[in-house]
Order: sequence, then C-alpha cells, then structure tokens
Amino acid sequence: MKKYGLNELRELFLSFFEEKDHLRLPSFPLVPRSDPSLLLINSGMAPMKPWFTGEQEPPRKRVCTCQKCIRTGDIDNVGKTARHGTYFEMLGNFSFGDYFKSEAIAWCWEFLTERLGLDPALLYPSVFHDDDQAFDIWVNEIGIAPGRIAKLGRDDNFWDHGSGPCGPCSEVYFDRGAKNGCGSPDCAPGCDCDRFVEIWNNVFTQFDNDGAGNYSELSQKNIDTGLGLERLACVCQDVGSMFEVDTIVRIIDKVSEISGVPYGRSEASDVSIRVITDHIRSATMMICDGVLPSNEARGYVLRRLLRRAARHGRLLGVAGLFLCDVCGVVIGENAGAYPDLTEKEDYILRIIRSEEENFGKTIDAGTSILNGLVDEYVGRGCATLSGADAFKLYDTYGFPPDLTVEILAEQGMEIDAASFDEHMQEQRARARKAREALGDLAWAGIDLGLDNTPTKFTGYDRVSDSGVVLAIVTQGEVSSSIRVGDEGIVVLDKTPFYAEMGGQSADFGSITGTEAVFEVNKVLLNKGGKYLHHGKLLSGSLRVDDSVTAEIDTARRRAIMRAHSATHLLHKALRTVIGEHVQQAGSLVEPDRLRFDFTHIEALKKDELAEIERSVNDAILEGLTITVDEMPIDDAKKLGAMALFGEKYSDVVRVVKMGDLSVELCGGTHLDNTAKAGAFSITAEFSVASGVRRIEAMTGKATLDALNTARGRLSVLSGMLKAGTPDELPAKLEQNMNMLREVRGALDAAVAREARGEAARILTGAAEVGGLKVITAIVEDAAADIDRLRQIEDLLRDWESGVVAVLAAVKDDKITIMAACGKAAVEKGVKAGDLVREITQLCGGSGGGKPDFAMGGGKDASKLRDALNAVYDYVKLRIH
Ligand code: ATP
Ligand code: MG
Repeated sequence: MKKYGLNELRELFLSFFEEKDHLRLPSFPLVPRSDPSLLLINSGMAPMKPWFTGEQEPPRKRVCTCQKCIRTGDIDNVGKTARHGTYFEMLGNFSFGDYFKSEAIAWCWEFLTERLGLDPALLYPSVFHDDDQAFDIWVNEIGIAPGRIAKLGRDDNFWDHGSGPCGPCSEVYFDRGAKNGCGSPDCAPGCDCDRFVEIWNNVFTQFDNDGAGNYSELSQKNIDTGLGLERLACVCQDVGSMFEVDTIVRIIDKVSEISGVPYGRSEASDVSIRVITDHIRSATMMICDGVLPSNEARGYVLRRLLRRAARHGRLLGVAGLFLCDVCGVVIGENAGAYPDLTEKEDYILRIIRSEEENFGKTIDAGTSILNGLVDEYVGRGCATLSGADAFKLYDTYGFPPDLTVEILAEQGMEIDAASFDEHMQEQRARARKAREALGDLAWAGIDLGLDNTPTKFTGYDRVSDSGVVLAIVTQGEVSSSIRVGDEGIVVLDKTPFYAEMGGQSADFGSITGTEAVFEVNKVLLNKGGKYLHHGKLLSGSLRVDDSVTAEIDTARRRAIMRAHSATHLLHKALRTVIGEHVQQAGSLVEPDRLRFDFTHIEALKKDELAEIERSVNDAILEGLTITVDEMPIDDAKKLGAMALFGEKYSDVVRVVKMGDLSVELCGGTHLDNTAKAGAFSITAEFSVASGVRRIEAMTGKATLDALNTARGRLSVLSGMLKAGTPDELPAKLEQNMNMLREVRGALDAAVAREARGEAARILTGAAEVGGLKVITAIVEDAAADIDRLRQIEDLLRDWESGVVAVLAAVKDDKITIMAACGKAAVEKGVKAGDLVREITQLCGGSGGGKPDFAMGGGKDASKLRDALNAVYDYVKLRIH
C-alpha cells in the first residue's frame, strides 16, 4: 500500500466521487449560516440540512465535500485517544433522493480497497442490527464473510435527532493491530480502545421521525457519509495516532521545539503537546471563519480552547507567549487547502496574541490564589474546594471554572459543584433583580389584560395617526383612566411611535384626546408586541376606549433617521476600509448621535478613522437614494444584504438599500436620501471588550453644533492670544511658546546660580577632619524645597571629592536630613547611608541610602544641632 499524505488523500477522495458524478463543493465555514440550533459545524452534513429535509433544492443530487468540523464534545478525549481531535476534516459523499445503500457501500469499499489499496483483511464493516438490507449488500454484493460484520445497536448505528430525517448507519472499522488494543478478549469493532478505529460512517436517512418516536419511510431517501481525513491518514501512513500524520506531526515538532520537551518523553507531557497541537488547529480555523474570543457561545469555545492550550504550555514549562509560533505552523500546513488562512494570517495571529497576553495576566493571579487555597485545604485534609471559594475565583478574579476543575483534578481534588452552581444561580438572580429595579422589565411584563395582537405600527409612512386607547397603566397597576399630573403607560390599537428596539431610540411626542394631552417620553415594546407609550398626562382626562390622535415629535424623528442612515454608511465604510471581518456587535441610534460596536482586534489608526469619516461623508454628498422594500429572506440574501449574525429573521424581511453602496436588513426608520444626513463626524473610537471596538459619531445638527462650539472656542483663543483671525493662531502660539522657553531657561540659570552661591558659602564653613572636608548646616531659606537641598549636595560632591556634607532643613517641626559623600570620602570609609541612619536616630527619626547619597527625616528639632555636631565624631571614628 502506498503511503499517501493527508493533502493527497483529500484530493483522491474528492476526485473519486467527482468521477461518480458528484459535485465537489468547498468546505462550508465553521460558523453555521442559518442554523441557530448549532454552535459550530460538526459534520459534513450539518450545513446541508435544508437539502436533506427538502426545504431547499441542492445544486445537484450528488455532492461531495471535505468539511472542516469542530466537536467540542470530544475535548476530554483529545490527547488521550489516538483518534479524537476537537478539529478535524470530514470527507463525505451525499445523495439527496438519488442513489442509496448499494452504491454508497460499493463506492465506500472501492475507494478504500482499490483506490487506496487498504488491505481488505483489516477492514471490518458494521451495520445496524435491524438493517438486513445493508447486511445483505455487504455479504452478497461486496463478498464480506458474514462473521466479519458487526451488528451494533441504536447507540452506535442509528442516526436520529429527535425529529426529522433519520436512519441506520453502516460503519467501516480498521484494525490497527493488537499493539494498539486494550488486550480484552472481547475487543472487537465498537470497542472504545484504539485498535479497531471507526474511519467511515455511512448514514442511510430513510425514515422520518414525527418527534413522538413514530417512524415512516421517507419518499426521498438520502445518503450522508463521513470519513475522518486525519483518521484515514493515520491508517494509510501507519502511524501511532492522528497526531502523527504528516501535516500534524510538524505542529507537534514545533511545540516540542518551543518547550524543549521531546515528544514521547512521558505520557503526561505527550498529552499536553497533543492538546496544544489540537487546540491551536481548532482556534486557527475558527478565527479564520470569523469567531472571536468572548464569554458567550462560540466565542467562549474559542476562548476556552486558547486558554487550555496556553495552560498546557505552562505545564510543559514554556515561560512566555508561544501560541502564535505554533499557529504559524498550522497556517503553513493548511494554507494549500484553505488559502484564506494566508490572507488572514496577520489578523489571526493578532487575535491569538492578545488573547494569550490577557490570559497570562488572569492566570498568573488566579493560579497563585488557587495554589494557596489548595495548600490550605490539603493542610486541613480536605479534598473538596468549597463552592464559595470556587465562585470567588471566577467572579472576582475572572479565573475560568473549567480550569479550576482541571487544576484541582491534578491534585486529586474537586469542586463542591452543587454549592458552586447555587452561587452562580444567586448571581444570575441578583443580575435579574438589578435589571428589574430599572423598572422597564417590570413594566413590560405587566399583564395588560389584552389579547396578543401586536399594536399596528404605522410610523414608517406617517407622523400622526388616529387610534383608540386599549389600556392604561398608572401607579403600577392597570386602570381604566389616568389623572392629570400622573405618570403612566397608554396602549393604543395603532401608533406612529417607533418603540425602542434594534438599537434605535423611541419617538417622543403626544397623544391627544378631546381635551387630554398625554406627553410621551419613552416607548417600549412588550412581549406580546404591544407598544407601551410611557409619559405623563399634562391636561384633561384620558380613559380606555377614548379616540385619540398620536403625533410624534418630527424634529426628533428626523434626527434619529439621520443617525440611523449614517450608521449603515458607517458599517459599509468600516468593511471597505478595515476589512470584511468587521461584524456589527451592537448599535445605538439616538437623535443625531450614534454608537456602533464592531469586531476588530486593535485600535483604528488616525488615517483609517479619517478615511472612514471621509467615505461616509462622500456617500452623504452623493445624495444616494434610500429605498426600503419588503421581500422574502432568500431574495434579500441574493441582493447581498448584510444580516446580523445569530439574529433570527422572519420569512419576509425589510431591506434598506442606499444607492448601490449598502444593503442591510433593518426594521428602523430611514431617510429617503443620504444627503439628508447632513454631515457625519466621528467623536471617539475605543475598545469595549476584547476584540470589540466602538465608534461614536454624530450627524446633522449635532455636527453643526459641534462646529459652532469649536468655532467659538477658537475665537476665544484668538482673543486671548491677540490673533486677528484663527489662521494666525499657530504662529502666535509658537511665538508665545518660544518666549516661555526663553524665560524658563533664564529662570533655571538664575536658580542654579543661587544654588551655586549657597553651596560655595556652605563650603567655606567646612572643617578638616582627617583630610576630609566635613560640613554640617541647617539651610534656612530653602527649608521647603528638597530639590534645592539636593542641588546643593550634588554641587558639593562634584566640587570636592573629599566632602562629607550633611544638610538639614526644618519645616513645620519636620526635619529633613541629607548627606552626600564625595568619592574620596567613600573610599576612606565614610558612607552617606550609614551616616544618615545614625544621625537621624539622634533626632528621633530614621533614614538611609547609598554610600554617596542618603536621606532621612527626624521629629525632634531641639536635638538637631547635637545630631549634626555628632557628624564630626562619626567621621573621625570611621576614617581609615
Ligand atoms: P467515535 O465513536 O470514534 O468518536 P463518531 O461515531 O463520533 O466516532 P461519526 O459521528 O460517525 O463519528 O463521524 C464520522 C467520521 O468522522 C468518523 O468515522 C471519524 O472518521 C470522524 N471523526 C468523528 N469524530 C472525530 C474526532 N473527534 N476527531 C477526528 N475524527 C473524527
Ligand atoms: Mg459512529
């Protein structure tokens, strides 16, 4: 048998099935496009679900792919078994109502034994125990001896997901020999050890499960197969595990090289090396497909993988950052098959680096606290970390609970899980209470006693509309009327008021009855789709069933529309200027002000910000027509509409289009022409979370107001600097700064002169002691200024190598003492540090320092003179 490389095997598989008339498709991204039930793609068929259910038409009835897969469920096996990775590639051939069991089994066998030349004696098929049809095909059409076919049960060989298409499976196992086995006499295909490895699973979706366990035959029968590329390579290359196949072993080698730990040294270090190798493969592919580290959903999976890899690096003794170096090899090994890895290399490395740096800080702090706790518990003979301690590590120090569990397990300890969960629940309850305390949630949840028909929103076309009062809430209770001066909520059958949603602020305005005026200052939507107009009754009276006119504040609405339309232009400009990886992560639209959060790893540069701002203003000045259309979601996608990731959209969506520049799905209110936004200016750009940046900006009147404020300031400045016009400001300012510099220079010179004078005067009072010049003095006029004392000391030491100068200053009964010893004095054994320590003690203080300079303080001013006089004796004694 020829030993094929992993990349060769991928190509052999895909071209084999192309010969069998399959359409070869590229791998789908790891992030599911429109399947909220799935965090990450975990099999070849996952992204094709709509083709299996018949919901959508596949591009051809036969398809083959090599699909990138993430299975976090296998994380605990990674590094421990020879066949599990959290990331792997799954080869697959698929039939949508076309060929069925006979062809699938025949081609599976042909590919393995003829195309790859695997020894048939080492291959063992399995079937679902009730699937006689598949059993017959293996025996009669392929010629396998019946005794070699394992009949397995539901757990192993029936693919079922609660409801929908399902069916029996037939797997192929490869016998890797007794050396890889568990040694049990029962060891056979299906055993959990690494001898008989499942390499290929053929799923025959032939039933429909109605959800209650009733199975009916499907009219469209499908084939879905999965052949693990790494497992196949492991078998074909006859290596010990999937981690030793050609492309992966180079990553292993890199980890060994960085850590200096050879692969094969010990089981524990091998597990660490494999975990790092696997997790960086996963992380690299996930980031490339748009996942960013975060504390939620797939972002958390990524964060956990990176953190686990980083921690295993520490276990191997790696001191600094290293994940990027490993990632570089992953990119190198996979770029042939996935060229976008090369395009996004810088981006991927940046994210990994910043996550590793951040984690390093958290981990250092957390690990030392946890180690302290472990010691303390072990000392008490207790092996269970209390829920409170575990929770504190998580809540206060941000230390990931799964890591706590892992580190404890290494010490044979565990967490009190029940109590930890309780703490978590309490925290959630506290958070919910805090939100409810804000009031809105409580209001939105109040039972209005109405049916669930949503309020009809007419505000896309109208600014004022008639309506009928359906319900009133005042003083926290449902009521039939509201009194003048009272605050409350009014619910109408229809309304032109836009409620706060999707980041857009609500309209304000008024609801008027025959005499009543209810001022609206907030509009929220409740679960039933009712618009809750919050506000205050200014005059008259308002009752349920009254006919009213609802009218919005059009100036506010226009300002909101300016900000919202500009937000779409900003989104587009960001993607053009900094890249397609930018995804909206949050947005707030207020009158003429907007806030836009987006995924990006580093601060935007000045010139990028300038270009983004310019490009939005260009689009405004072009006066692009804005159109809004409702259409089926698929049509919108064809138009290239930017949909928000993870959002659920109804079948009919609202598409907002600005010229040919921007197409977005959006429920907000918009201008009819970009020109009406007036102007756009960015006011701030900063980070709000790891990997998420925020831009704050303004439009229309706010920009004009800001311009006027700035102009006002300039004019004030011009007045202060006596500039005729603001244009003269830079020159005027420079003049002033030059002048200031000169004055400061002159001042410094004068001060230095004065210090020199004083130093010279002090030096005249020096006494000769054993060839040294000893000075003690209380500096009166410079009492407040330590800098001045220091300046004098430095001068004395520079001038006189044999000087021992002890200067003191007294301020508010606090004594400062400084001593400087020249080079010759130090050589003769007089050290400033020791001297100060002794002298300060004599006046009730302390101090110390280096041999040539030292400082200290004292409290008892009455003893200062004596203390200074002691200097002479001190010098005499020390000198040698
Ligand atoms: P196992 O029982 O060995 O975990 P599985 O039953 O979960 O495998 P399937 O869901 O049938 O596997 O997936 C189809 C194929 O994908 C498998 O035959 C195998 O070759 C490959 N595969 C599955 N899980 C992994 C993994 N964690 N790492 C590498 N390859 C895998
Ligand atoms: Mg299986």
